[in-house]
Amino acid sequence: MAPQNPQPITAHLPNGLAAVEHEVARACEDARRERSSVTLIAVSKTFDADAITPVIEAGARVFGENRVQEAKAKWPGLLSAYPGIALHLIGPLQSNKAREAVALFDAIHSVDRPSICEALAKEIDSQKRRPELFVQLNTGEEPQKAGVAPGDADAFIAACREKYGLSISGLMCIPPVNEAPAPHFALTAKIAARNGLTKLSMGMSADFAIAIQFGATHVRIGSAIFGTR
Ligand SMILES: *Cc1c(COP(=O)(O)O)cnc(C)c1O
Repeated sequence: MAPQNPQPITAHLPNGLAAVEHEVARACEDARRERSSVTLIAVSKTFDADAITPVIEAGARVFGENRVQEAKAKWPGLLSAYPGIALHLIGPLQSNKAREAVALFDAIHSVDRPSICEALAKEIDSQKRRPELFVQLNTGEEPQKAGVAPGDADAFIAACREKYGLSISGLMCIPPVNEAPAPHFALTAKIAARNGLTKLSMGMSADFAIAIQFGATHVRIGSAIFGTR
């Protein structure tokens, strides 16, 4: 028999948002911070609109995607159905996708090289849209990973500002998988502070509570909300 309820079935499936929200609130309390000082980014990469809808219905309003093309394919419909959602690009950006990225995203966490700065500056100017920008650090100096090496960070941030006229809000990092994350979070916070940056995008499903202790203002949480990918 066909179901009488016209809502998609996925709207009734449980997701991890409530549990994650609870843990974020507890981590804020432990760190003696206001819950409102931490933005929870629900990382929906690889999940389709049917899986994202119940997380929106459960109250999430900030989402993260790591690929421009994937986000373009699934978000426009959701954004018009649910006004007030902010989209953050948390994955690598190619210069030739800067136009689409500036048009779609409210924040970009992966600013890490001059060609991206140049492309973003041009698009911000021509589209009159100003996504919030984060410089990505490669705190573990891993060759396969994107991001600016810690030793180059001050000069890169200065170039973003002075040469490209970009307003940088903060720093983002992804600690190496096999290391304790705390020193990477501490280093990111230190580099941000000495450059006058107030936002810290750090902390994922496995380590967001530690990141909050170290001052994260944006935690990027995927699998703890959506399940394994
Ligand atoms: C996938 C991803 C996340 C979320 O990771 P989980 O372990 O699923 O929480 C966070 N940040 C970035 C940059 C990612 O690519």
